Amino acid sequence: LAKGNGKGGWQRYQNDLHTAMMQRLEMRTALHEAIEEEQFVLQFQPIVELVDQKISGVEALVRWQHPAKGLLGPYHFVEAAEESGAIVGIGTWVLREALRQFSQWKNENPDTTLRYVSVNVSARQFRTADFADRVREALAETGARPEWLLLEITESLVLKDADKVIADLKALRALGVRVAIDDFGTGYSSLSYLRQMPVDVLKLDKSFIDDILHSRQQHALVDAIVTLSHNLDLAVVAEGIEEAGQRAALDAMGCQYGQGYHFARPLWPGDIPGLAAEYQEHPAMQRV
Ligand code: C2E
Ligand code: MG
Ligand code: MG
Ligand code: MG
Repeated sequence: LAKGNGKGGWQRYQNDLHTAMMQRLEMRTALHEAIEEEQFVLQFQPIVELVDQKISGVEALVRWQHPAKGLLGPYHFVEAAEESGAIVGIGTWVLREALRQFSQWKNENPDTTLRYVSVNVSARQFRTADFADRVREALAETGARPEWLLLEITESLVLKDADKVIADLKALRALGVRVAIDDFGTGYSSLSYLRQMPVDVLKLDKSFIDDILHSRQQHALVDAIVTLSHNLDLAVVAEGIEEAGQRAALDAMGCQYGQGYHFARPLWPGDIPGLAAEYQEHPAMQRV
């Protein structure tokens, strides 16, 4: 921290601190305005069956249509929104909008291969006292069936206050909603907690998938996690699949679902039904 920089370094540090504080304050105001003025939008990324690329569901991913800066991805604002608490309002909007959009797709085409929409829930949002009520309301307001909703929570949430989180998860699952652990493998998880966690799906983080073709150890690790998960009755989604070889390797391990640029990037809502129909009619039978 500015050590050895003398007085000038300290002054500069003070100025930087001030600027950072101002930026945080501006950000906080801007995020609250953005909620009021409905500047958030959703893209949806397909989650596919690895065996034939049929789209089984979609993950809703929030973006900020900023009046001056253009379209901003979550890395530009989700952390700040967590800190300021704005994520609770944003998350409520995301939940309702994702369910509204998904219900529309189901109503327009009851034969769609789309079975669920996956929605990211931040730790702060999950821990609000009325989160389960918000979920129930969003389902009721949009006419969505509970089994259409998959809530993505993170490992770190699960690790703190485990008893309370387990009770809340049970209440949500009693509604018929399913729960996924997102970015699995990036936290300090021990595999043993999976046994006690009332969850349905494990999303294996991209960092776990990146090396499976080039590292025998990494391949073995992912293989073991897939097997263990299935023995615990958890479905597995491999995140960040970018190459055909990764798809094939994961499919061979018995991993059922995948998500990544190899199949599709996050898309605007208008592109989803067409793509789902296309993959339904022309499944890529890639298993060898
Ligand atoms: P995530 O939930 O793990 O979502 C997957 C992220 O990986 C998305 O980034 C997606 O675009 C990206 N991705 C998917 N496939 C590939 C691939 O093959 N290669 C690479 N390099 N990237 C891939 P995105 O949309 O920028 O979202 C980043 C993170 O922001 C999400 O990670 C999630 O943690 C958070 N986020 C997104 N939407 C929401 C939201 O509505 N609420 C909350 N609380 N967090 C959100
Ligand atoms: Mg996610
Ligand atoms: Mg993820
Ligand atoms: Mg991830």
